[in-house]
This record gives sequence, C-alpha cells and structure tokens, in this order.
Amino acid sequence: MGIPTPTTKFVYSFGGGKADGNESMKNLLGGKGANLAEMAGHPNLLLPVPPGFTITTAVCTYYYDHGRTYPNELKTQVNQALEEVEQLVGKKFGDEKDPLLVSVRSGARRSMPGMMETVLNIGLTEKTIEGLIAQTNNPRFAYDAYRRLIMMYADVVMEKAGGIEPKNGKGIRKVLDEKLEHVKHQRGYSNDTELTVDELKKLVVDFKETIKTNLGQPFPEDPMEQLWGSVSAVFASWNGKRAFEYRRIEKIPDEWGTAVNVQAMVFGNMGDDSATGVAFTRNPGTGENQFYGEFLVNAQGEDVVAGIRTPAPVNEYSKNDQSRHLPSLEQLMPSLYQELDGYQKRLEGHYKDMQDIEFTIEKGKLYMLQCRVGKRNGVAAVRMAAEMFEEGLIDSDTALMRVAPTQLVELLLPMVDPKEELVHAPIAKGLPAGPGGAKGRVVFTSIDAVEWAAKGEKVILVREETSPEDVDGMHKSQAILTTKGGMTSHAALVARGWGKCCIVGCNEIHIADDHKSFRAKDGTVVHEGEWITLNGTKGLVYNGEMKLTSIDLNLNQSYSKLMELVNQTKTLHVRANADTPKDAKQAIAFGAEGIGLFRTEHMFYGEGSDDPLFRLRKMIVSKTEDERRHALDELYTFVKKDIKSTLEVMDGFPVTIRLLDPPLHEFVPHDKDKLQQLAKELGIRMSVLKRRVLELHENNPMLGHRGVRLGVSYPEITVTQVRAILSAAAELILDGKKPFPEIMIPVTCTVNELRHQKALVDKVYEGAKAHFGLDEIPFMYGTMIEIPRAALKANHMAEVAEFFSFGTNDLTQMSFGFSRDDIGGFLPIYLDQKLLHDDPFQTIDQEGVGELIRIGIDRGRSTRPELEVGICGEHGGDPESVKFCHRIGMNYVSCSPFRVPIARLAAAQAAIESKAKN
Ligand code: PEP
Ligand code: MG
Repeated sequence: MGIPTPTTKFVYSFGGGKADGNESMKNLLGGKGANLAEMAGHPNLLLPVPPGFTITTAVCTYYYDHGRTYPNELKTQVNQALEEVEQLVGKKFGDEKDPLLVSVRSGARRSMPGMMETVLNIGLTEKTIEGLIAQTNNPRFAYDAYRRLIMMYADVVMEKAGGIEPKNGKGIRKVLDEKLEHVKHQRGYSNDTELTVDELKKLVVDFKETIKTNLGQPFPEDPMEQLWGSVSAVFASWNGKRAFEYRRIEKIPDEWGTAVNVQAMVFGNMGDDSATGVAFTRNPGTGENQFYGEFLVNAQGEDVVAGIRTPAPVNEYSKNDQSRHLPSLEQLMPSLYQELDGYQKRLEGHYKDMQDIEFTIEKGKLYMLQCRVGKRNGVAAVRMAAEMFEEGLIDSDTALMRVAPTQLVELLLPMVDPKEELVHAPIAKGLPAGPGGAKGRVVFTSIDAVEWAAKGEKVILVREETSPEDVDGMHKSQAILTTKGGMTSHAALVARGWGKCCIVGCNEIHIADDHKSFRAKDGTVVHEGEWITLNGTKGLVYNGEMKLTSIDLNLNQSYSKLMELVNQTKTLHVRANADTPKDAKQAIAFGAEGIGLFRTEHMFYGEGSDDPLFRLRKMIVSKTEDERRHALDELYTFVKKDIKSTLEVMDGFPVTIRLLDPPLHEFVPHDKDKLQQLAKELGIRMSVLKRRVLELHENNPMLGHRGVRLGVSYPEITVTQVRAILSAAAELILDGKKPFPEIMIPVTCTVNELRHQKALVDKVYEGAKAHFGLDEIPFMYGTMIEIPRAALKANHMAEVAEFFSFGTNDLTQMSFGFSRDDIGGFLPIYLDQKLLHDDPFQTIDQEGVGELIRIGIDRGRSTRPELEVGICGEHGGDPESVKFCHRIGMNYVSCSPFRVPIARLAAAQAAIESKAKN
C-alpha cells in the first residue's frame, strides 16, 4: 500500500441512492463495505440501506505500520462523511434533541463471522438519551439501547482493545451480564424485554460505577470519543486472538487488514412493528432454490445470531420442528415480506449467486443491512451451481468455479447407515445445521476437544451454544451439537462453512451444571468420553457408536450434471492409485480414466496375503539363484492372478503397474516367535534365517536396497513380475478384452538402470508373444521420477522410458531431505514460524520440487516429444497441486479413488484459469 499521500481517499460514503464505492472494491472496502455500496448505489439495486461510510483497509495497514495511529487527513474525511449521513437521516450526531446513533462494524475482504468486534448505538450519552426518549416516546427502548452500548463498549473498547486482563478471568461483559441476570431473577423475568424503565435506569448507573471500579476509567459521555474508541477497537480486533486463529485455519493473509463500517442505526427492537432477521436467497443447507430465513420481532440483530430466543421462519418453507408453531414474517407482515422477497430476488439476479442478507424492520419500514455471498456446504454448493447453470443464470465455467474441489468431500461424506437408523431410536432431535453423519466421544469444552483430538480421539463437541472462542475445538471435532441456537447461530454458520456435521438448537438434551454429562429427554444420560452418533442431515442424536456409510453419488443429479461440465472442460486426465479390483471399480465409479499407480506389493499385506507372502519370504531367504527362481515360480501364479483381476476391471483403460518397490526387510518378521514359526514353515534352521534377516538390515532403508535396485540385484524378480503382467494381458486379449498395462520401474536415478531392466522386459515380451501366439501385446515401458538426479537427467531417462510418473512422495523427501515418515516432529514448528507455508508432503512445493518436475518434463520431452507424463504421489489429489500439474503440461494426475472427483473438478478449474490467463 505504501505511505499514503495527502490526497488518499480513506473514507467512502454510501446511502441516499448513491455510493462512492462498489462491489469490485472488496480489497479496499472489505466485503461488507463493498456490498453496502453496491446495494445502496448500483442502479440495478438501489435498496433501502441506512446511510453510512467505510474507512478503508488501507487505514488498518497504516494503523499497524505507524504504531496504532491514523493518517492526518482521516479525521476531516470522517467528519465530512458523518455530516453527509446526518443530512440524509435528518439527525445530528451528539444532538441532545434528536441524536443520530451509529454502529461501528468490521469488514474484512473475506467474511470472518463473529471474529472481530462490533459496537452498536454509538452516540448515546446521558444528554442525548433525552432526545432519543423525546423522539421515540419510548424511554424503555432508549435505556435498553443505552445499557447495550455501555456493555458492548466496556467489553470491546475499554477492556479488550484497552488490553486489560480481566480479574479472575471474568471479563467486564460477564460481570455486567450477571448484574442484568440478577435483576431479572429477582423480579422473576425470563426476557430482557420485561425490565422496566426504572430497573434499566438503575442498571445503567450500576454498570457505569462497576466499569469505573473494574476498568479504572469512566464510560465516555462524549459521542466523538465513543466513535473513535469503537473504530480503534475494530482495527485492534484484527489482531485479536480469535481473528488470528481463524485466519490461520482459513489461510487468510495477516496483511489484508479490515475495513471499518460506520452506519446510521436502525432498530428492530422498537416494538411489535419492528423486527430483525437473516435470510438466504436459496437454502444454504440443501441448495434448494427457495427463499429461506429467520427473524425475531422486537429484537436487535445480535439476538438472532446469539440464539437466545428461537427465531421465527420468514415463510412457510423456512419452518422447522422448533419454529413450526411460530407465525412467519409472511403471515405477520405480508407486505413487508413481499418487499423483502422482491429485494432478495433482485440481489440474487444481480450478483448471480446465493446471497446471505440481513434486514431490519423499524416501525414498519424495511432496511437492508448487509448482503454477501452466502456460505454453503458442499451438497448445497453443487446443487446451486448445477441448477443456476440450468436456469441460465450462470455459464458452465462459472458453475465449475463455484464449487471448491474439497467441498466435494462432503458428498463423499459418510452418513449414518440407514439400516442401523431403522433399528435405533434417537435420544434427541435438533436442527440439522450441517449434513452428513459423524460419531465421536462426547466432550464439553473446546479445550478438551483440542486436547483429545491431539491424542487421536474422535470427539463430538457438545455445548449450550458456541462462540468465536470455540473455533479451534469446533474445527478439531468430528461434529458439533448445541442445545440452543437456530440455523443461523454461530455454530451453524461456522460448521456450514467447513462442511462439518452439526446439530443446533437441540433442546431435548440438557447439559449438567458440572459439564461432565448430558441428559436426554428420554432419560438417557451420556457422560464425557462416551460415544454418540449424529445424523446432521436430519438433526438426530443417537446414543452409542453406529456404522457410517457413504452416499451413492450416482443418485445425485446435480453432482452428475456438474461432473458432465467437468468432463467437457478439463484437459488433464485423472487416474486412481488402486491395486485391487474393488478399488478399481470404485475409481471407475468416481470417473477415473485409468490407474496411475498399482503397487504390486499390496498383495503381500492384509486380507488374503498369507499364501503369496509365504512364497515371497521363501524367495527372500533363498540362498541360491536356483532356490530363488523356484520360489518365484510359485509366486508367479499369485502375481498374475492379482494383476489380471484388476486389468480386467479396468478394461480399455491404462493401468500403470509398478514393479516391487519396498526394501525386502519389510516383508520378514522381526520378533523371535514369528521368526521361529517362519523357519519351521520354510524348513530351514533358525540360525540360517536369522543371518539372512540380519543381512537385510540397513541403516537407511528408504535410501537403500529398494526399487529398481532389487531388480538389478535379482533380475529374476523383475522377470517374474513382467511375465505375470504380460501373461495376464495376453490372456485377457485372447478373451476379447483390451488391457493396457504400463510397466513402471521405481526409484531410478540413471538411464542405465532403465536399459538394464528393459533388456529383461524385451526378452520376456518376445517369450510371451510366442507362448500366446500373439503378434503384439500392447504395453508401455516407463519409470517413476522420484530422485532429483532422475529429473535432472530426464533427457537421458526418456531415451528408454516411454512415460514418466512423478513419485512426489519420494521426490519431496529427497529434495528437501525431510523424512516422509518423521516430518511430524518439526513440521508444526516450521508452519507456525512460517518457515514453510504448507506441508510439502500434502501440497507440492511449486518453487523447489515443482522446479525439478518442470525440468524433468522439459528435458524428457526434448528427447521424446510424445512422452506421457503423470504424477502418482499423494499430491495428485490435492487441488492446488492438480492445478500446478495442469499448468506444467502433465497428461494426468493419479490419486486415491476417493479423491478422484476432487482432482477432476480441480483439473476443470485449472483449464478455466489457464483460459482466463491467456
Ligand atoms: C512416491 O514416492 O511418490 C510414490 C508414489 O511411491 P511410494 O509412495 O509408494 O513410495
Ligand atoms: Mg516412492
């Protein structure tokens, strides 16, 4: 941003049918400020927005760069903008007869719900309150507004921004809240609205005294001091703990800063002809094209989000089990509802996306307070994108860019097995705020959630309600369950943003005072650490641990439509890493176009591996080549069967089969009993076996006798595997199938290794052709590129290799010199201190490892222009890495079957982004 010059515009006004800014200025005005300007000033919209102004994010940057001070000209610009607001509203700030009151709110480039501060009713003082009473004829309302200002101001400005550490950990807000609750309790009131003017007046006096005693200074009675105090508090909250943590999770850069919005107050709490609400132009939970929202009569906005009262539905569609009995806005105030419905349609048509809107009705007049692109879960995102495309509202590229690839995870999310749900009765029902199913052990505090999760426990966070302080714990939990709050409460908003399973407003359970258990309506008591299962799609809570299953994607029409667009758009192919017929079928169902990595060694692990493993061990402990050949002949049958079954499933698609990679010691047992048993089975002496196992020991096996080095030392291992591959393919060809194996040599560093192995392959190939009487068995011969030297010498490697597959797990390990198995010991420190921005084993380090890949591709193709290039490391399913692979001209990425849809969408987005760039 640089040092601002004296002509810099720091303040942007909006209201009265015009605005200085617009929606495209989010970086400078923040999302909220830019959208307020758009709503107020764009000729398509011209909505009734209370006038105000935005202090830019550049001021936030300046504030932090200059020891928390402001540019000189800010004051004049603010005064001028305030005057404009006064003119539009017809009231004066600080006026004792008819005071203008304003709100001060944060507004970052990307919304950070509840993470920063807000102060309302600014401008109310002992003097101006008389004016407010005179104008509204409602002293109760005026004193209620005053006590709210005092509470918020003391908390946000005086204590938090003032850096005062609360005594005994109890903040001023809590102290004042307790006083309020005490009076309500004494009088037997259940709602704040029952407090009388006199009681409120006394509370105000008491509040002010408490503030002076606890915080060491009086509540300011000067409106301008209140305004500037609040502005500074919002800027200070950008670096508050909550906002800071949220930015970490959401990867929002610290440098962005927040804008501050100052806006004329309108009141939803002026009586029964006033209200306030939150709504979405489409259902954010399902994506259905229905106006959806909640509101409260005679309330301020914070009351809706705080979840203290059950909000009423805006229309019939928005009713749920908790609000069914409440009259809707449509029923209560039909003409205002029509007006609101008109505005929401106008907004969605203008923005061409689902909008999240806040509105207030003050004495029968509707005001629009905010609009922004609404957060939605993955299921809803897919449905909205597909339907908006089909409605003609957006084009195909826009539809594809609307869904974050990782959001697809939610469609692949587990759900509670419907069969189990038939036989289990739920113990409670709440509001379905975040879909999918989850199970976990109950914890009652965010701190416990974090601690238990760090120990590898799956937890469900159960709270009365959540607040921004809980984000870390919410993030670490499998799911969130709250007893209070509506579909727009903090828990619901945050969980939806993350696509996490969440149930809110579940008043059928009661959390014990000691926060160690909860009791459900049916009497079931669940203690901390016990399992529960949630169906977030229906809002059902089950006692105990139930089975989770996955959705049948093919039944989701919106998903199918979106994926149709994906296929029309992407150019990068997506394959799967799979080595069983079952995984191969799954991969095809998810749209994989081949297998990019079939790890042959999988057959020696897990189910059904006893026989082949025994033979492999026999081969490993063989003393002579003859013995080894004999053992390998026995193994051959297993290997061929295994490969053939997958090739058969993948009929017509390429299958990259990698020859044996792990060091042999991984396949022999190390404890004495198991060794003894093996010696017996193999019919050899224990001492012989022990010596052989000892010989296999290496100090650094990852850099040791593995990959192609095995095939060089024991050519018969290569020969057996290649024979199995080509025979399997030949048999399938004779059956009328179209297998296409690609034989891949792992862990190579010189073309000489490739030549060595190629000679073996050629020999086997000739033999197989003759044996099966075929003229040709189509296959390709290629290598993994996992060692930096192989990338650097790619021009030579490509003299022999017809394809490269970048093994970025090993390539990352060997480029950084970070052990892929031990990085956990120091990675968190590196990330925390920003020595690294991402875990390089999750997302490709584009600068370093990426450079090697680029070099590898360029040099490889300089020798063999048609060289086929792919990636089969874990990065193949990471959206950012997939986009990188597209940009550098790979032919395909390969990832685990469940990530195939994610990679496909990322590939389509990469194609769209490249098109836009060119
Ligand atoms: C790799 O190194 O990237 C790879 C895919 O091989 P593996 O993970 O089996 O070592
Ligand atoms: Mg590897």
